[in-house]
Amino acid sequence: MEASSMANVGVIGAGLMGAEIAFVHALSGHEVLLADRDMELLEKAVARLATIYEKGIARGIYKADQKSSPLSRISAKTSLSDFSTCDLIVEAVFEKEDVKAEVLSEVDRHVIANAIIATNTSTLPTTVLASDVGEARRRNFMGMHFFSPVSRMKLVEVIPALETDAEVTDRMVEHCLRIGKSPVRVKDVAGFAVNRLLYAMMIEAIRLVEEGVATPEDIDIACRLGLDHPMGPFELMDATTSKLCLQVQEILQDAYGERFRPRPLLKQRVRAGYDGGRGNKGWRD
Ligand code: NAD
Repeated sequence: MEASSMANVGVIGAGLMGAEIAFVHALSGHEVLLADRDMELLEKAVARLATIYEKGIARGIYKADQKSSPLSRISAKTSLSDFSTCDLIVEAVFEKEDVKAEVLSEVDRHVIANAIIATNTSTLPTTVLASDVGEARRRNFMGMHFFSPVSRMKLVEVIPALETDAEVTDRMVEHCLRIGKSPVRVKDVAGFAVNRLLYAMMIEAIRLVEEGVATPEDIDIACRLGLDHPMGPFELMDATTSKLCLQVQEILQDAYGERFRPRPLLKQRVRAGYDGGRGNKGWRD
């Protein structure tokens, strides 16, 4: 690891996103501390990563490292006091402002003065979250928005907050490249860039169904085969749950008005429990 790189990385939240954020860093040679609320959650996360790694080796995506498995570079922690050695901390806890506020202000107290703190939030303004760290840290605070599944998706939106130093943003862009990702710089606006594009399309897809233009299944086929998308909007809504999609649309509507108004059919389906996700009927059942 080069001296200028962020060798020691801390990730807070070992859920869907955080565990794989730790994994991609470990794969590229970083020492990673991965924190969550209890050991059981952390053990589950590490077991999931072991499966991803083994499957990846079997498929030829990763090379088996005989000397040291990337997983051996991930240390599970239930306390943030160990994060004092980290150069970069990525926060990936629940998408709740109060939970993030508590975690960010706590980790800010533990880490060295020039450590960078990044948030993986998908909907909260990075400038608002920056106010959870001390004034001195704010030049070193920004959004680092990964996409799911992090081990496969190359994109990272790098989102400077109001007071982020331009040089720190440059370092973050370089860091993303070093871990094998493709960063894009995006201004701190609601939905950043990708979710604005995605939700505009999703809302139009539901409008097509409301108007009886095509079925959800056929719209998914159209997006796969006509636009070369890996999955259609209805498959995606079922995978992420319609409830979550509705919540994001409400945030976008609040920021941008009519053009992101959630469609009545989506609201009705969510209220009736046709939500997708595990065990629930979705658009495609
Ligand atoms: P998740 O619920 O799978 O994981 C969140 C983890 O944070 C859980 O393991 C939880 O135990 C842990 N956590 C909660 N409070 C904590 C605390 N005080 N200290 C330590 N750990 C704590 O959620 P996720 O889908 O991984 O999302 C995490 C973040 O990433 C959110 O901000 C979300 O908006 C963002 N994000 C999610 C996606 C996605 O597709 N799921 C995509 C991009 C960004």
